[in-house]
Amino acid sequence: MTALRERLAAWLGLAAPVPARKHTRDAAIVRLPAPAEVALPLAGLVAAVAPGDAVAAWAEVARSAAAARWPRRLHTPLGGQVVSIDGAVVVRGVPADAPAAPVAVGHRAPDGLAPEAIVAAARDAGIVGLGGGMFPTHAKLVSPHPIDTVLINGCESEPYFTCDHRVLVEHRDEVECGMALAMRAVGATTGAVLDREDYYPAGYERFVVRDRLGRDIPPRKLPRDVGALVLNVQSARALHRAVCLGEPLVSRVITVAGGAIARPGNYQVWLGTPAADVLAACGLDAGRAAQVIAGGPMMGHALAAGEAIAAGTGGLLALTAEEVVARSEQPCIRCGRCVEACPIGLPVPLLVERPGPDVLRCFSCGACHYVCPSAIPLTARLREAAAEEVKWD
Ligand code: SF4
Ligand code: SF4
Repeated sequence: MTALRERLAAWLGLAAPVPARKHTRDAAIVRLPAPAEVALPLAGLVAAVAPGDAVAAWAEVARSAAAARWPRRLHTPLGGQVVSIDGAVVVRGVPADAPAAPVAVGHRAPDGLAPEAIVAAARDAGIVGLGGGMFPTHAKLVSPHPIDTVLINGCESEPYFTCDHRVLVEHRDEVECGMALAMRAVGATTGAVLDREDYYPAGYERFVVRDRLGRDIPPRKLPRDVGALVLNVQSARALHRAVCLGEPLVSRVITVAGGAIARPGNYQVWLGTPAADVLAACGLDAGRAAQVIAGGPMMGHALAAGEAIAAGTGGLLALTAEEVVARSEQPCIRCGRCVEACPIGLPVPLLVERPGPDVLRCFSCGACHYVCPSAIPLTARLREAAAEEVKWD
């Protein structure tokens, strides 16, 4: 373990490994009650409902336009009434129609299922990458290149996060069923669940493929270009639930942690639940919270007012002043540490000053920001630059 930890730090050019802080590792998953209302961001999707419509739990409420390259679908976890569709589909729940508790199910062998049926189930269920990328899973299950290996990525990158670990501890049969389904969909002969090296950035897809298979993914290429498919643990579980239970993607497990949380742990939450509701249920002490983050400290962002739990939200952190290293931003001193730290060798300061198409290669790992002695929020700057680049593309 230590050797890999140090190897990862060296690979990223970090002086020391990022602290793991996996304090909730033994906290069993607790299901939070259904909220009064869910807000499901449309993010480019077209609403299939209108304000005032009655909807049943699990109903499809939006989907991509017909011409979309990577079509997606969105479902409501709550049955009730559509309140608005302005930027997000907001559904007010009817208590009697609250979603049922997720049931424990056994593994159902996918033998006999056609690959196309698995891909269609993933598409209809609206499954996206739950590791944070939120790329439609059905698109990953159709590859123009032969794939021999499916890797289920349980190497949780972010400090504090233990939700994928708990899903593996408590629902491994479901994850393995999802892996078997993915193998069948792409015709792979080998599958493996990776769940040991849980420190930053062990879960970085390129590192996982190189470390496990000894295959380097060239710049601008994907795992499928080297014969691999990498799925997050919870995406694999969602695939199982879609195929074996017909359940759309309406919930996920997240980690809620930090010194300002009275009941840190791992929680099964319905997508669209207001983050404020989750924090309140976990005992947020707002007076002690110096920083509240949606996602992890490396790749997350400051929680916005009214933000809801999305498919890619792996956790909520409420950190105290002692946990946050307060550093004020200073001018760049051209030390070059950010460039050395970037796993894909991006010229970081140059890209921040004069953004170009290369900003789209940045995958927001946070390593450059972590090592910057001037505390420049490089990851955030690059994200903003990437958004501008896409706008003008
Ligand atoms: S956040 Fe982007 S630029 Fe910074 S180290 Fe990671 S990939 Fe490189
Ligand atoms: S690490 Fe920070 S100070 Fe050093 S070159 Fe990069 S941006 Fe500038």
